[in-house]
Amino acid sequence: MKKTMTVSDVQVCVRVRPLIAREESAATVNAEPVQLFWKTDKKSIQIDDGNSKSFSFDRVFTAEETTNQLYQDIAKPLVVSTVEGYNGTIFAYGQTSSGKTFTMMGSDHNPGVIPLAVEDVFQTIKNCPKKEFLLTVSYMEICNETVTDLLVDSWKRKPLEVRETIDKKIYVAGLAEEMVTTSAQALAWIWKGQNNGHYGKTKMNQRSSRSHTIFRMILESRKCSDPASGENADGAIIVSHLNLVDLAGFERASQTGAEGSRFKEGCNINRSLFTLGQVIEKVTDESLKGFTNYRDSKLTHILQNSLGGNAKTVVICTVTLDQTLSTLQFGSTAK
Ligand code: ADP
Ligand code: MG
Repeated sequence: MKKTMTVSDVQVCVRVRPLIAREESAATVNAEPVQLFWKTDKKSIQIDDGNSKSFSFDRVFTAEETTNQLYQDIAKPLVVSTVEGYNGTIFAYGQTSSGKTFTMMGSDHNPGVIPLAVEDVFQTIKNCPKKEFLLTVSYMEICNETVTDLLVDSWKRKPLEVRETIDKKIYVAGLAEEMVTTSAQALAWIWKGQNNGHYGKTKMNQRSSRSHTIFRMILESRKCSDPASGENADGAIIVSHLNLVDLAGFERASQTGAEGSRFKEGCNINRSLFTLGQVIEKVTDESLKGFTNYRDSKLTHILQNSLGGNAKTVVICTVTLDQTLSTLQFGSTAK
């Protein structure tokens, strides 16, 4: 059953992160008498820099709201729908150090969207006794338009190709898919992936700001035979993907001043984020006709089956006080 021209389910929210310690101390040093330019309410951000502008979102999360609140409000419905058989993708989008990894991965005491989602998938499955599930996970990194597998040891890592089956299913050839039966097993694979970078831990941060990572849960489900009603399982298997994506930090051309390969990386990051933006714009607005070229970037190509159509998408834009306003902002907090 195919509906024609459905507007896809895309939710865009913003998370404002609080000042971190080094910014707080800078604020005290640079104290200036200035007014605050930003105001937020549950669904919008108003910026007043002479001409006031208002930006609307499905939800704005303030610095006081926790990752768990954010998860419950905007991520949980998507996660539950993947257990029901729909594809879903959650992106964290924002400048470097705006809180993407904090939001997606979190820490031991403050788990992010990824561990919360993993836990929830297993919980939701427990409440579906009439279906049986097979779960696998994969974890990949796209750096400078090269796809590699984070679940294999670094010395074995090699560039992987994105391919398409005859029935238009996109897959990454050779990507490991590990079967998991508990959330602890899934989390163990995530930690392995995180520590698997061949640049070592110290450079991990630097590197992660330049690469996209996709943690994927693949859910295969099928109805169990029901002896009570005499109903037999028809054997049909439903496969859905839950993609949890920590995007590379976007760079502004004027801020980078990078040369050579750093510059190329910057271009590739911006290109893939641009293509992603176009894809999301087209699937949310039916008046924007025309062909969306998912293949313009590895990121959108890999996620092609999970963007648009029946798939659900959540974009979490992480923001911090804008660079250009930062001094003013610091001043206002120090008043
Ligand atoms: P990104 O992944 O976007 O580069 P990070 O997630 O690494 O940014 O965040 C940068 C710093 O800010 C980290 O030290 C992180 O702990 C802190 N941080 C980010 N978001 C929050 C938040 N909502 N609350 C408290 N600290 C945060
Ligand atoms: Mg990060």
